[in-house]
Formats: sequence, C-alpha cells, structure tokens
Amino acid sequence: MMPEPVLEEIRDEVMNWNGSGMSVMELSHRSPIFRTIVEDAESALRELMSIPNEYKVLFIQGGGTLQFAMVPWNLMKNGRAVYIDSGIWSKKAADEARKYGEVIIGASEAASNYIRIPDCSKMEIPSDADYVYICENETINGLTWRELPDTKGHPLVSDQSSMFLSEPRDVSKYAMIYAGVQKNVGPSGMVIAIMREDFIPKEVDPKMPVYLSYDTHAKTGSGYNTPNGWSIYCCGKVIHHLIKTGGLAAAAERNAEKAKIVYDFLESSKLFKSPVEPESRSVMNIPFVTGSKDLDAEVGAAAERAGLIGLKGHPSVGGLRASLYNAMPKEGAVALVDFLHSFEKEHGK
Ligand code: PMP
Repeated sequence: MMPEPVLEEIRDEVMNWNGSGMSVMELSHRSPIFRTIVEDAESALRELMSIPNEYKVLFIQGGGTLQFAMVPWNLMKNGRAVYIDSGIWSKKAADEARKYGEVIIGASEAASNYIRIPDCSKMEIPSDADYVYICENETINGLTWRELPDTKGHPLVSDQSSMFLSEPRDVSKYAMIYAGVQKNVGPSGMVIAIMREDFIPKEVDPKMPVYLSYDTHAKTGSGYNTPNGWSIYCCGKVIHHLIKTGGLAAAAERNAEKAKIVYDFLESSKLFKSPVEPESRSVMNIPFVTGSKDLDAEVGAAAERAGLIGLKGHPSVGGLRASLYNAMPKEGAVALVDFLHSFEKEHGK
C-alpha cells in the first residue's frame, strides 16, 4: 500500500511537475530539474534515517533479487562470506552467493523450519570473511531480528526489503543496508542501498557489467544511465510523508500497535495460530495457519469475498499471511481480526 495523501499528491502533479509543464515521466534524466528530484529523495532519506556522512545512498534498478548477486560479486574480495540462514530470502541470497565464492552458513534454523531467528551467539567467523549477511525481516516466514548478530568486527550486510523504514535503525552498525522499495517506500523495480563509502570496492571483476558495480552508482550520484525516475520521485514523496508524520519512531509505534492487534487475536484463537516463536515475530508480516490446508484455502477465499485481499501465504510455504506494511491503517488490522473472529465462530470454535 502507498499512503493515501501521497497518492493524492502524485495524482495532482502527474500532468505538470512543479510548474515545469511536464510530467515527471517526461523529464530528461540529464535535466537539472530531474537531478533535484534524486537529490531531494536522498536528502530526505538522510534526514529520516540520520544517515552518517560517510555513507552513500544509491538508487539501483533490478529489485532485491539482483542484490543477491551484486553483493557477493562486488564484496567477496577474499572469496568467502558468512550468511545466516533465517528463512526463504536469506537462503535465496546464500544460494546465489555460492556462484561467486564460498558461503559459510554461520547459523541456521532450517531444521526447525524457521520458527525463530537463529542463535548466533556461538557463531564462528573466519578472520578473512568479507562480510556477514542477514535478511533482517523474513517476509515469507514472518521472522524479524530484535538484536543484530555480533559480527566480531566484520562488516554487516542487511537485506531490509520488508522492514525498511518501519522503525528506527542505527545505520552506523551496518556496512550496507539494502531494500527493494516496493513494500514500504514506492513502486517496484528499484532498490535503495546505503553503503559505507570505504566498503564500496573501486576495483571489481573486469567482466562485471558496469551497471552492477556499486562504484558506478556511487561515482555518478545514481545517474550513470537512465534511472527509474518515476520510482525515485514516488519514494521521495513517501519519505517526506514519513518525516511529516513523526519520523521512524512514530512509524514504529503505529506498526507495533497494528501487529499487537493481530498477534493478540492469534494467541487467544482456538482455530488460528502463529507458527513463529514470540520473540522472533515480525511486525510487518504475520503468517498464520489453521492446521488444515483445505481450511486455510477456505479462509483465504472467504476473506477475499469480504474485501480482505492477499491473505494467501506465499506458494512456497502455504498457510495464510497478513502483511501490515507502513501504509496499512490500524483499521485494516481491526477488520482482519473481526473477519477471523467471525470465521472462527461460524466454524464452531
Ligand atoms: N528480499 C526480501 C526480504 C524480499 O521480501 C524480497 C521480495 N519480496 C526480495 C528480497 C526480492 O525482491 P525483488 O522481488 O524486488 O527482487
């Protein structure tokens, strides 16, 4: 979802951006006014997240999936990195990274089918490991990190795709944060990467396409080629909206309140339950099950008839899943619980 006031602002500007007589979709990426859109989105993000000066903000096309390759291809200088296996998205990232070097699984919860964030307290990290990689919110499994792992001084790379801008984060604890923007920020197909400057390699595999080198984007202010101007423009609007509505601390409060409504219901329900242990539960993505595949499907279909769209769990795990991204109002969580409550009653529980 996008915040409604932002959609309205975009609607009002779509034919004529800022008196230019042109739509944002028509601006040349080399025109000075287009550069102001990119620079404005970046400076608003710096303000919202208090990004330290020594970090670059990059707008890169290709979505989160391309980062699964760009991260190891650029950053595995010694040829090995530690990945924490906390669910489907970190596993996909590790599988892709194996094409570029040695992947050491520092900790894994595959054996429990990902009911909690892996315990990293005894994790061994080889001294020459280039980085430690986590997926900070496992979108499909519904897990989130409450405390970052101790990387023993190694750079931390975090995929924040499904929790980016949902709560405050101390950027200085990471060497790199990246996020596909489509959950909490703007139209799909783009990633925002926040990278410590000294972590961006100047020399890369000469066979690497120029677009895939982080240095290409860092050197050109994300303007090496024609960028995804529309997405950057919309992201800028959402970032400003977050600043206007109290920043990330206020967003975190709103998100915690929504998630509590759903988790409290699941705790009290006789029909539905969360497969995830309480201390690892995501605030953004809440998977739940009835214990019967047929009944799960019935719930999904009945919910859709009641106007609650997209509750079906990801095809790889089944079940049901409620996503409560930033722009979902509290009323959405309340409507879901009301519906599930009635469904439960109708089924004699
Ligand atoms: N990482 C996470 C945590 C995700 O949730 C997703 C997509 N849902 C991706 C990566 C992949 O992103 P994209 O579809 O933009 O390639």
